[in-house]
Amino acid sequence: MELTKEQIEAIVSHLGAKFPDSKCPVCDKNTWDLQRRVFQFTECASLIMGGAAIPAVVVVCKNCGNMLFLNAILLGIVERDKTKEKGEGKEGAEAVPKEAADG
Ligand SMILES: [Zn+2]
Repeated sequence: MELTKEQIEAIVSHLGAKFPDSKCPVCDKNTWDLQRRVFQFTECASLIMGGAAIPAVVVVCKNCGNMLFLNAILLGIVERDKTKEKGEGKEGAEAVPKEAADG
């Protein structure tokens, strides 16, 4: 899922507010690169469609390769899947992409 210009601006603003020092915790440089797509982590050993997944915005340190993974649900990029039943022990894990036309 590709990020819109508005989503990228919102993420950069979020990072500025929550991560003001901006230095990589591994190499101490400030050479971050926001990936323009949303990725997702899927549950291990669950390659079946519909398994638990966590959508993530990825920021890469261009100096050392360290990566930050920000939860795209908490950033408001991806909507939590409300069609799933509650009480399965997967709270916060499953999600569906928000319409790209939202903004
Ligand atoms: Zn680094």
